[in-house]
Amino acid sequence: MTYKRVLLKISGEQLAGKFESGIDAELCARLANEVKELGDAGIQVVIMVGGGNFARGTQLCGHGIRRVTADQIGMLGTMMNALAINDIFMSLGLQSRCLSNIFAEQVTESFVHRLAEEYLDEGKILIIAGGIGRPYLTTDTAAVSLALELSCNVVLKATKVDGVFSDDPEKKPLSKKYVQLSGEEAVSNPNIRIMDKAALGLALEHKLPIIVFDSRKPGNILRAATGGEAGTIILP
Ligand code: UDP
Repeated sequence: MTYKRVLLKISGEQLAGKFESGIDAELCARLANEVKELGDAGIQVVIMVGGGNFARGTQLCGHGIRRVTADQIGMLGTMMNALAINDIFMSLGLQSRCLSNIFAEQVTESFVHRLAEEYLDEGKILIIAGGIGRPYLTTDTAAVSLALELSCNVVLKATKVDGVFSDDPEKKPLSKKYVQLSGEEAVSNPNIRIMDKAALGLALEHKLPIIVFDSRKPGNILRAATGGEAGTIILP
C-alpha cells in the first residue's frame, strides 16, 4: 500500500548525523535522494524538522530563561534546520519550499494552509520550520497536528532505532521489537518512550497511523511510505 501524502518527522539529532550538534550536510544530501524517490513514486511529502541539535526548551529553561523563551529558542533551532535542508534539497534539483510557523518574513514564507495545499498539489516538498509555532510542545506533537491539518495518511517518524521496542534497546538489548502496535498500548505503556505521549494520543484520537523506523537504513523511507517492511507501525 502506497500512502498518497506522508508527513516525515526528522529530529535534530538525526540531522546532526556524525556530529555532536549542527547539521551533517552529507547526510542531508542522502536524505534528499531518498525524499526524491518518494516524489518519483507520486507521494506528496511534508517534512517536520526537529531542533534538538541546536536547542530544546526543557533543557534550556532556568537560570532566568523562561520556559516560553526557551521554547521559542527551540523553535528558532528548527528554523535553522529547515532553511539548511531546503537549500540542500534545492541545490540537488528537488522542488522544495520552506514554510514557517513562526513569523520570519525576511527569511522564509509563513505557513498558510491553502498555500501548503497548493505547493503539495504541485508536487513540491514542504519543509516546515518552527514546529506548530507555540511553546510547551515538541516537533513530534507538531508533526501529528500538521499531518492532520494537511490530511496526510501517515506520520513517518525517522529514528536511529529500527522501530518501537518493549524497552530501550540501547540499554536493554533483550528488548522485544514490535512489528505492529496498537495506539492504546503505545499511549498507556510507560516503557514506550519513542514519541511524546501527547503526539501518540492525538494520532490515536484521530486514527492516524505512525510508522517508526530507522532512517539510516538505505531505502527505508520509501519502504515505510509504500507499506513495505520497515520498523513498527502504530495503528489506531
Ligand atoms: N518547540 C516548541 N513548539 C513546537 C515545536 C518545538 O516550543 O511546536 C520547541 C521546544 O522547545 C522543543 C524545541 O522546539 O524542545 C525543538 O524541538 P524538538 O525538541 O521536538 O526537536 P527534536 O527532538 O525532534 O530534534
